[in-house]
Formats: sequence, structure tokens, C-alpha cells
Amino acid sequence: GRGAHLIEAHIEVDGLKAYYGQTQALHGVSFALEHGGITTLLGANGAGKTTTLRLLLGLTRPDGGSISLLGLPVPQQAREARLKVGVVPQVDSLDPDFTVTENLLVYGRYFGLKDHEIRARIPALLEFAELEGKADAGIESLSGGMKRRLTLARALVNDPDVIFLDEPTTGLDPQARHMMWQRLRRLLSEGKTILLTTHFMEEAERLCDRLLIMDKGRAVTTGAPRDLIAEHIEPHVVEIYGDHEVRARTAEYAALCERQELAGETLFCYAKDPQPLLDVLKPQCALRYLHRPANLEDLFLKLTGRELRE
Ligand code: ATP
Repeated sequence: GRGAHLIEAHIEVDGLKAYYGQTQALHGVSFALEHGGITTLLGANGAGKTTTLRLLLGLTRPDGGSISLLGLPVPQQAREARLKVGVVPQVDSLDPDFTVTENLLVYGRYFGLKDHEIRARIPALLEFAELEGKADAGIESLSGGMKRRLTLARALVNDPDVIFLDEPTTGLDPQARHMMWQRLRRLLSEGKTILLTTHFMEEAERLCDRLLIMDKGRAVTTGAPRDLIAEHIEPHVVEIYGDHEVRARTAEYAALCERQELAGETLFCYAKDPQPLLDVLKPQCALRYLHRPANLEDLFLKLTGRELRE
């Protein structure tokens, strides 16, 4: 264990509003997070995820509403609250002129840590990032995945209670992405509270305990991914591909399922019992279709609509 925490990790946002000039980015976002767990802010480009994180950190002032981070009001006491927060920004901000160790030292000093305190933590941080042996390496010599892991390790230099990650796996290959997920789960097992943004459904579904779906500056819904899917979506999905066939017989298929959605050349049929529909599709040799369980993408599309954002 990490000893008794006197402050309970806790984040509360109420009626948050934000404008960029005439553009309203947030329209009154409210949510509360208890200690522990991984919460994902899921939303299309422009939904307001990054803006929400910036406001939580006190980097910009809200135009309405209130924020409490670890029991402290933000932005009033943001500086103090940030001492117990780790941040992994969307774009890596490692200093290319410094080595791995120097980057950790410089970052740790922002938190008022002494060099000997930081140096004492570095072996554990490098082990966590699987960068043992890279202590004296230059940043430019690291791969993209290594840089992301170093950025994560750097965010832990102050032993934070809460970790914010803005799209932690964007641009990573599948291997590197899995490694990042593994690292995040380890932090979770150590009792950290994690809030991350993503637009990868798979990431949100695999990783998080709690989902906060944002759309056009609003928090649309919140809950555990499995619960939300079960609540809003029929259990079976049959995707039918190809425009002519699909359009010719859409009405016929509609009678065999609860609900349909058309996106481009794919017809999505949502059913409690898919068998009658599958029986009709099977003999049609030329038809391509896929039967699968409902997933987070179905939920996201139902709640936020299918039109492309921006
Ligand atoms: P992304 O996935 O693209 O990072 P996001 O969900 O993080 O999107 P935000 O970056 O918070 O969304 O943006 C919310 C809205 O505010 C968008 O409409 C965006 O165009 C606008 N916006 C964000 N930053 C600025 C800025 N600096 N100036 C003007 N408008 C901005």
C-alpha cells in the first residue's frame, strides 16, 4: 500500500461553461469522480474533451460553473491541487536537448522536489516505462512508443493521486498501445485515479470502468461501458454491406429487427433475436454481412448521431 491518504482523490465539475471568442465549447458540463478507477472522456473531434481537461487543471478559466479538484477549488487553488496531479499531454513535450534523466529532473523541479529526491525515484520510473538502460539516452533516439512511456513516467515523478491523460495512445502502433494499456492498469492497481480522453471506442471499452460521453460541449451520458451498452442497444448487430442490395431490401430487413441505421454503404440492423434476419441473409450468396455483439461504437453512434463532426 501507499500509506493512508488524507485527501481523497475526488473530482467534481458543475455546470462548466467555456467560450473561445464567439464559439461556445462547453455548454454546462457536470460530473463527479470518486477515488480510484479509470474514467474515459469519449467524444468526437471538437466535443470539448481537451477544454475540460485544461479547465480542470486551472490552465484556463471557466466562463461559468465550478470545479473542485482533490477537494480544492479550481482555478483559485489550482497550483496547490496540481501538486498531486500527473499530466500526460496530447502532444509530447519532452525537451529534445536533454537526456531521459535530465527531462525527469527538470520536470520534478516544477513540483519543488530536490534533485536527490528525483534521482531516488528515477530507477523505479524507468522500470515502469520499460526504459531501463535509457537513463542517459537522448530524446531523439527514442521511438514514439518510448517517448509516450517516458511522458507517462514523467507524469508520475511527483507520485500523483490523479492522472490526466489526453489521448495517450494516439499515433501508437498496436504493440505500443497494448503496452500503454498495461501500464495504465498497473497504475490503477496502485490506487491511482485516472481520467483519460480518447476517440478510440476499443480503448474506452477495454480500459475504463466508467465512461463519460461528450458531444458538442455537453456530457451526454455516464456509466460503466457494459451497462450503458445493455441499457441503450439491442444485444445483436447485423451489419449489411453494399448499397444496391441493401437499399432494395431494407424494408424487408427492417421488419426482422428492432431498429436500423444507415451509414454510408453499411446498414446496421439491431435485434434482440437476430435469427430471422440471418435466415433471410444466409441464402444470398453475393451479400456481405457481419453478425456481432453490440459494442461501444453502437452506443456512441446512437447517442451522438451518425453525421461526421467538423
Ligand atoms: P479533439 O478530439 O479534436 O482534441 P476535443 O473534444 O478535445 O477535440 P476541444 O479541443 O475541447 O475538443 O474543442 C472544443 C471546441 O472548442 C471545438 O469546437 C474547437 O473548435 C473549439 N476550440 C478549441 N480550442 C480553441 C481555440 N484555441 N480557439 C478557438 N476555438 C477553439
